[in-house]
Amino acid sequence: MPDHNDPLDQTLVLIKPDALKLSLAGYILSILSESHTSLRLAGTKVVQVSHMLAEEHYSDLRDKPFFPSLRDYITGRIHYPTTPQRRRVVALVYCGADAVSRIRAVVGPTNPHKARDDAPNTLRALGTVVMGRDAQGREVIDRIDNLVHASATPAEAEREIKLWFRPNDIVPPMWNYRTVQCDMHYYYLNGRLLTSHQPGSTCLLAPQDLAWATDLEALQAILAGRPSAISLNGVAVKYLINSHQEA
Ligand code: ADP
Repeated sequence: MPDHNDPLDQTLVLIKPDALKLSLAGYILSILSESHTSLRLAGTKVVQVSHMLAEEHYSDLRDKPFFPSLRDYITGRIHYPTTPQRRRVVALVYCGADAVSRIRAVVGPTNPHKARDDAPNTLRALGTVVMGRDAQGREVIDRIDNLVHASATPAEAEREIKLWFRPNDIVPPMWNYRTVQCDMHYYYLNGRLLTSHQPGSTCLLAPQDLAWATDLEALQAILAGRPSAISLNGVAVKYLINSHQEA
C-alpha cells in the first residue's frame, strides 16, 4: 500500500545556492507559481544545508566521483566560500495533480547545456556546467550548477519531503503521508539514539509531537535493534535543520 491518505501528488523543490547568488529566487518562484504550474505551495523553509543533510539528500550519488563537489555546492561552500551566513537553500513543497512531472517539465534537463539545446525555456537553461580534470588529466564535468532541484519520481518526492520537512512544516490540508503522534522522547547525540536527555543531545521527538509514521517506525526499529527502512541520520537530520552553525 502506498503511504498516502489523500490522492494529492507532492514534490520537493530546492532553490540552490547558485540561484540565490544570482538573485533568481523570485524569478524561479514566479515560474513555479500556481498560475504557471497549477500547483499550490504547501510548505517552505530557508535552510543552511549541513553535511549530513547533503549526504542524506544525495545518498544515491555518494559513490560518484563528483559527489564531494556536489556536497560543497548544495551546502553553499562553493558559491559562498568566505561568507557562511549566505549559505542557504530555499526548500519548497508543491502540491497538486502530477506535481512531480509538472515541476520537472518547468525545471528542465539536469545538464544546462542540454537544457539550452532541447528545452531553452526551462529554468535549468540558465545554469552552468563547471569542468575539471580527472586523475588521468582528462577533462570531465566537475559540477552541474543547475539552480534548482526537483524530485524525479513520486517515491523520491516522498523520501525527500519527509527528509526536509516535519508534518507541521506543511499546511495540514496538504498532509499527504501517514502521520502519528509520538508517545515518548527520542534524543540524538553523535549518531546515537537515546530515550532520555544527555548533555549535548538534541530532542528529535517528544510525547504528542506529530511525526511521519515511517520515521517513528524507523526509530522504534532502531531502538529494538531491528533493521530499519530509514537510517537514524535519515530521520534525525530534519530535526537538526538550522539548529547549529556548521563548521
Ligand atoms: P537531477 O537533479 O536532474 O534529478 P541527478 O539526481 O542525477 O539529477 O543529480 C543530482 C544533481 O547532481 C544534479 O542536479 C547536478 O547538480 C549534479 N550532477 C548530476 N550529474 C552530474 C555529473 N555528471 N557531474 C557533476 N554533477 C552532476
